[in-house]
Amino acid sequence: MIIVQDKLVSDDVVEENFICNLSACKGACCWEGDFGAPLEENEMETLEAIYEDVKPFLSPAGIAAIEANGKHAWYDGMGHGTMLIDGGPCAFLTFDGNGVAWCGIEKAWHAGATDFKKPISCHLYPIRIMPYDAIGTEAINYDRWDICSEACKLGDKEKVPVYKFLKEALIRKYGEEFYEELDGAAEFMKAQKSI
Ligand code: SF4
Repeated sequence: MIIVQDKLVSDDVVEENFICNLSACKGACCWEGDFGAPLEENEMETLEAIYEDVKPFLSPAGIAAIEANGKHAWYDGMGHGTMLIDGGPCAFLTFDGNGVAWCGIEKAWHAGATDFKKPISCHLYPIRIMPYDAIGTEAINYDRWDICSEACKLGDKEKVPVYKFLKEALIRKYGEEFYEELDGAAEFMKAQKSI
């Protein structure tokens, strides 16, 4: 484990490789699993505030689920997350012409309709953040999911570690300085292993 600015970073985040391979997985993380995408407290308010701006980019099924049940829900065993359509796909999921999942919120962001790109948990995946309230910190873990197996292969082929693949999301969450410290620690670990 590495400690960066009091955050506990698992070794896998710097030692394992990963590049999302959308042509292989089609963005399956948007519809697989039992829970919606984890949401931070302030993100629930954000979803309420931007809904009308994002709505034109959503699917009819997603709009129906959101308008019947809300934009988010509480999931036992996980916490607050985005609403699902009948317990299946994320209600904010859309597809492009090639059948690849596209977050409707991100589509709206690309179109300039909102300045909220997408929930940080989606942006950071396959990193998952686990709060350690007792000691006032967080653990930054690599979440392995078999639907991402092609992303592991592509990451190995291109030699891109998880944290580098997620540079933009890590900077969004923790800032440039955190990322630079993490990168420095990763390079140090790599050098030590090659001695
Ligand atoms: S996180 Fe996994 S399932 Fe989601 S887009 Fe990346 S490789 Fe595909």
